[in-house]
Amino acid sequence: MIKAVLFDLFNTIVLITEKEENYYPRCLRKLYDFLVENGVEVSFEEFSRVYFEVRNKLYAETSENFEEPHFNVRVSLTLKKLGYEYEVSDRLVAEASMEFAEEFMRYVALDNNAINVLSKLRRKYKLGLITNFAISECVWKLLEKFGLKKFFDVIVISAEVNRRKPSPEIFKKALKALNVNASEAVFIGDTIGLDVKGAKNVGIKSVLVKRRPIKEMDVEPDRIVNNLKELPVVLEEFKD
Ligand SMILES: [Mg+2]
Repeated sequence: MIKAVLFDLFNTIVLITEKEENYYPRCLRKLYDFLVENGVEVSFEEFSRVYFEVRNKLYAETSENFEEPHFNVRVSLTLKKLGYEYEVSDRLVAEASMEFAEEFMRYVALDNNAINVLSKLRRKYKLGLITNFAISECVWKLLEKFGLKKFFDVIVISAEVNRRKPSPEIFKKALKALNVNASEAVFIGDTIGLDVKGAKNVGIKSVLVKRRPIKEMDVEPDRIVNNLKELPVVLEEFKD
């Protein structure tokens, strides 16, 4: 019997409304402008070059070890490489990350059916959220902004637990908090690699929310939906 429904956040419950190549430079620019206002003297070109060097190195590491260092880590590392000794724990670093986050939030919208579907499902299942994001404060702000917090019995953000999907640990944390077994849970997400694969690895069934054409599936979800509205009926079909 299904007792818990776990959700991904981005492009599952909330939608990113712009392409990354459009919003990312704007977010980075806001972060940069903030640093310049606070005494950092470097061109945007040089700053971007070092930032992406640092970010890409971190991405390479985290794709191997499934860790999720907070965004503050890359800001501090970038500043150090540019000759500014700011630690991860420094206020300026945290504030710079939030500048990035505030801009990013402008490109996030709530799925039209999310509230309705979550309200419905909450009457029947325990609900959880498992999201990868390096600025955990930004996730909390988005949940607050869209009134989503109240629906979830557990919220696991990768940057808070230093583990990202598809690592088994992040899924197990949510199961444990909800006090359910993997076989009693279903994961709802929009990516094969992070959501479907991650869930399957720990024995959680999955539903793929199809937000874009699927190129290839090396792991098959148990169900595919095109719209969150389909979930209440689709979840009824899971029998164990
Ligand atoms: Mg997603």
